[in-house]
Amino acid sequence: MTTLRLNASIPADIARAAALLRAGELVAMPTETVYGLAANALAPAAVAKIFAAKGRPQDNPLIVHVAEASQALPLVKAFPFTAQRLADAFWPGPLTFILQREGHVPKIVSAGLSTLALRVPAHPAARALLREANVPLAAPSANRSGSPSPTLASHVLNDLNGKIAAVLDAGPCAVGIESTVLDLTSEIPLLLRPGGISAEQLEKVLGQPVAISPAIAHAIENDAPTPSPGMKYKHYAPRAELTLVQGGLQAFIAYAEQEQPDGLLVFDADVSTVNCQLSTVNCLGYGDSPEEQARRLFARLREIDELGWRTALVRCPAKEGLGLGVYNRLLRASAFREVSV
Ligand code: AMP
Ligand code: MG
Repeated sequence: MTTLRLNASIPADIARAAALLRAGELVAMPTETVYGLAANALAPAAVAKIFAAKGRPQDNPLIVHVAEASQALPLVKAFPFTAQRLADAFWPGPLTFILQREGHVPKIVSAGLSTLALRVPAHPAARALLREANVPLAAPSANRSGSPSPTLASHVLNDLNGKIAAVLDAGPCAVGIESTVLDLTSEIPLLLRPGGISAEQLEKVLGQPVAISPAIAHAIENDAPTPSPGMKYKHYAPRAELTLVQGGLQAFIAYAEQEQPDGLLVFDADVSTVNCQLSTVNCLGYGDSPEEQARRLFARLREIDELGWRTALVRCPAKEGLGLGVYNRLLRASAFREVSV
């Protein structure tokens, strides 16, 4: 199959992408978080193609995207008041709710679970495509399963060229990491995946704390139950072996001197200091603010492989706000190898 490269700013290209989706094909679509690999969520055969193209484990459920909050209601058994308040505040936007799935939504979408993940994306091209396709779209990140998520159409093509009908190109994604996943099926909202909306932002709107799944900052034991199956895998990972290093800059530099990795992923403000103290090691900056780190993280992880590094040390980001999402991705990208210096 030849993968079409469509342009999100051309209405005829949006129409073409929508027609492909209605015909049961896969289209990679831009969202504000990362590029998603979309299929008609109500057509089990189309959804099955997502798992095949990505090589995604069959037990890892998908997020369903709709154009308006009102279109979410028929897909779930109930839309609780908490969901309504959060939707009013953050939809369209990078926030996904876990709610009880309504019976007519194919089981394969949520990998057999009784629940369903739902969100209204904010990206104008995603919303135009959803309106034109006029069906809910199941869309996980448009990468090969396990590799860094795509924040450019070229990332999608590097992973999935020839395996999907089209990619709708809208340039770089504004947020850069995936949506926040919030489980609203029990009394206390449970954060399953930190992402584009921070826990602090959720708590401010709710006026109550949200519970944080321990899986966010720790590896899950093999036999432990997993509230969000996607959290148990090594994920977002380049081929290079990454180690996440907690501690100050000078201690980081001393550790790098001792370990002699092929490269370093540090904050932008560190680059000149690292370069003059460790002239033998290559380094990349990934931003100083959590927002900038989120925006650039996945492209940097792909660059590490392009540069052919086999080993890299990564400076650990702050774990507040959007930083918790960046930390969560880096922890999985490094297969939970984390050291303090
Ligand atoms: P992706 O779209 O590739 O970012 O992956 C979707 C994420 O949402 C994965 O971490 C899934 O485990 C999670 N997810 C999707 N549906 C559910 C669900 N019904 N219950 C819990 N987690 C879910
Ligand atoms: Mg993904």
